[in-house]
Amino acid sequence: MSPLALRRVAVPRLLSRAVRSQTRQFSSTKPVARIISTQPLRAKEAPSPTTHSYPIIDHEYDAIVVGAGGAGLRAAFGLAEAGFNTACISKLFPTRSHTVAAQGGINAALGNMHKDDWRWHMYDTVKGSDWLGDQDAIHYMTREAPQSVIELENYGCPFSRTEDGRIYQRAFGGQSQDFGKGGQAYRCCAAADRTGHALLHTLYGQSLRHNTKYFIEFFATDLIMEDGVCKGVIAYNQEDGTIHRFKALNTVLATGGYGRAYFSCTSAHTCTGDGMAMVARAGLPNQDLEFVQFHPTGIYGAGCLITEGSRGEGGYLLNSEGERFMERYAPTAKDLASRDVVSRSMTMEIREGRGVGAEKDHIFLQLSHLPPDILHERLPGISETAAIFAGVDVTKQPIPVLPTVHYNMGGIPTKYTGEVLTQNAKGDDEVVPGLFACGEAACVSVHGANRLGANSLLDLIVFGRAVSHTIRDNFKPGQAQKEVAPDAGADSISVIDKARVADGPKSTAEIRSAMQKVMQTDVSVFRTQESLDEGVKGIDKVDQMFSQVGTKDRSMIWNSDLVETLELRNLLTCATQTAQAASNRKESRGAHAREDFPDRDDKNWMKHTLTWQKEPHGKVDIGYRSVIATTLDEAECKPVPPFKRTY
Ligand SMILES: Cc1cc2nc3c(=O)[nH]c(=O)nc-3n(C[C@H](O)[C@H](O)[C@H](O)COP(=O)(O)OP(=O)(O)OC[C@H]3O[C@@H](n4cnc5c(N)ncnc54)[C@H](O)[C@@H]3O)c2cc1C
Repeated sequence: MSPLALRRVAVPRLLSRAVRSQTRQFSSTKPVARIISTQPLRAKEAPSPTTHSYPIIDHEYDAIVVGAGGAGLRAAFGLAEAGFNTACISKLFPTRSHTVAAQGGINAALGNMHKDDWRWHMYDTVKGSDWLGDQDAIHYMTREAPQSVIELENYGCPFSRTEDGRIYQRAFGGQSQDFGKGGQAYRCCAAADRTGHALLHTLYGQSLRHNTKYFIEFFATDLIMEDGVCKGVIAYNQEDGTIHRFKALNTVLATGGYGRAYFSCTSAHTCTGDGMAMVARAGLPNQDLEFVQFHPTGIYGAGCLITEGSRGEGGYLLNSEGERFMERYAPTAKDLASRDVVSRSMTMEIREGRGVGAEKDHIFLQLSHLPPDILHERLPGISETAAIFAGVDVTKQPIPVLPTVHYNMGGIPTKYTGEVLTQNAKGDDEVVPGLFACGEAACVSVHGANRLGANSLLDLIVFGRAVSHTIRDNFKPGQAQKEVAPDAGADSISVIDKARVADGPKSTAEIRSAMQKVMQTDVSVFRTQESLDEGVKGIDKVDQMFSQVGTKDRSMIWNSDLVETLELRNLLTCATQTAQAASNRKESRGAHAREDFPDRDDKNWMKHTLTWQKEPHGKVDIGYRSVIATTLDEAECKPVPPFKRTY
């Protein structure tokens, strides 16, 4: 099609969208007093200086995707491709989403380096999850993996190549051949050590091709829920200070994780669990939040990630005695045991006085024995990161590293179709009409108690696509929608207003740092009832502190003070539920390592934790869901029965 023809097609579509969006002044009878600001607004920056109220702009779409990371983009263009009028709302420019920082790669049993089988990948993932992963979803993800990566390749993703031109695959933690009997697998497809960058830009390109409508630097605050049905979201446009009400039959949350609840983490400052908190405020549960992954190799002091791919390429860990200590903890997989195992082993070495440095409080990652051309070709990004953040030349010196918070296995519970789940009064699973989730915000659950490296990027593209397919198969573009109540979103606007004019004695940064300290100290790699009870008490105290927050910026234009405060509120919800769920689970499984309950207890605890909060900053209620221990089709692939997990 010529560019001219393209334009001719596009114009009527744009017009029809413009007609469907309309601006109106918010006129709710319910909490008007709370919506209208009582503070003097600076006329120029105030959204509506004469009335001090918030202009509301209404939109209607077939589908809305909140988030433009790997998961959100894949879902959005899948929907647009199927003809759905799709809005993608993102607080960041899409290619600045945290997915861009992913380094090591994406798993798929392509078999480019040796014979491979997706059932082996499935086996490794179930074992990696410590049997908390749902096996129907793991079956789906590992089976769909090869074709999903080929699809990415066809979209133009610039993967590294083998000599004969195939996608290069490296060794990654927890990956084996022949159901654990055939040694290390080379299954992780990589674009040097910048795979997320390659993947995200590829997906963004595709999404533009399919005419997705973007709302960039729009901060979504809440879901519009009526009678248990999701009808859209409320969002704040940071650029001009307007409030938007997006109505749709289907809403997809792809808002990423909440690493920033911790002091030291590899995630971007924007990973604040907004989706999980929106779901909590909508009266829905989150699942398995106690499972927080610590990546073994964050740079000491800075927290930036050094990819597991560095060990995949032959790097190893050393203690102060120059010993490759992982050989003692994981005799077969050694430095490529799964992340929970390596992080715990490093912590043990430090505790027993074999840490390195003046304080003996970290570990060395040795790469200097690798040929310089391998470092240059396969690990250029981390060589640069190590030079900048640790002042180390990796061709000559080891990198000082420490386990650092990296990933949230828990999140919004969904089926493998992406449909969000809640529980009815009888305790049975029930789909929440109109609501979907994918990516790190979701808990499908394919990662269970511990995610294997390079399985998250896979999760994004497989379940981002699954969401679009579920909607495509059950709805039609242009399908009629039910009206939302005229005052829908009023509560959300009062929260924005309250945060904008808050004049309490505590700054957002102060409360955030108190929260991060509690989580880092008491809800950490190793846990005991005592530390977790302290954690629950501590985080509750910090959560209550939020009522004393004070902000300085009273405007609505690019008010990052306001956004950070709303993000802090979301983080506090995630942190509170995480601490409670961790203190409640009395066993060790995957990333949840209890010193007082060192063993996995399948009899009592092979179940998902659900956490609800009826009121923001209120009590956390705990419930459970069974783990799905059956596959989608036993003839294709049998379930993996539980056994003791060693590497
Ligand atoms: C440093 C690092 C390296 C990693 N390396 C790998 C790897 O090699 N392999 C692998 O498999 N995994 C890796 N991971 C994990 C993986 O990258 C992430 O889990 C994944 O990218 C998350 O993608 P996502 O699409 O769910 O969310 P993100 O990429 O975090 O995107 C979230 C999106 O939601 C939007 N958003 C959030 N809140 C709001 C809101 N309130 N309103 C509007 N928009 C909102 C943001 O703007 C953003 O677009 C790595 C993670 C990190 C931190």
